[in-house]
Amino acid sequence: MTNSLPTESELQEAWIELQEIHETYLLPYEVKIPHVDQYYETARSIWLAVLFYYKEEQVHKDVISDVCQRDKPGLARDQQVRHLKREGWHLSGKGGYHSLDPFQPSPEWVTERNRRSGRLGAADFTQLKKFYGNACATCGAKEGRPDPRYGQDIVALQHGHMDPAKPANDKDNIIPQCQFCNRAYRSDYVFDDKGRVYAVADVGPVRRASRQVQKKIYEWLMSVFG
Ligand SMILES: [Zn+2]
Repeated sequence: MTNSLPTESELQEAWIELQEIHETYLLPYEVKIPHVDQYYETARSIWLAVLFYYKEEQVHKDVISDVCQRDKPGLARDQQVRHLKREGWHLSGKGGYHSLDPFQPSPEWVTERNRRSGRLGAADFTQLKKFYGNACATCGAKEGRPDPRYGQDIVALQHGHMDPAKPANDKDNIIPQCQFCNRAYRSDYVFDDKGRVYAVADVGPVRRASRQVQKKIYEWLMSVFG
């Protein structure tokens, strides 16, 4: 078997080429790659170099294990190549065979990344609304349907500003809000990205509060500002 393995210089060449491809196609997706110059420095860099050397062909995991044994003695016999998937590499194959598509991250990785960064990943208001299920971030009213609280008025989602003090056109300052929430909260509150109020943004809510609450606020402010 060993005589059919790629040579060290072939693998080093593959490793250098893969690093370049990673930088162009996968780094933008934060797919992880070992930061080593020589392919044989880590188990993962060996796996990747071998997978890339065989391009989109299927490689049996024993071939990868054989290269590991040859080039980095001391590594476990059974190399868990599939773990690369967790780091975003687009690996496919079954029955002990693997093949690598080096030009795109794994679909699971992209989905997970979108889920994590979905709000800020939205390219425009349509996508942002989609992230919120085309519903008001604050009350959950669905766009295009009548809102029972307001008779027959059809819900229209508007650009709600999470923090009225921040620039209105800042992407990370926008949440979709129905016209009712947008109007009701005016510029009195700061919202989190779940559409929940978490701070006051103006004196209105304090002015409307009971004397008791106002006194509480007054005392707290006195302790802060003297
Ligand atoms: Zn609403």
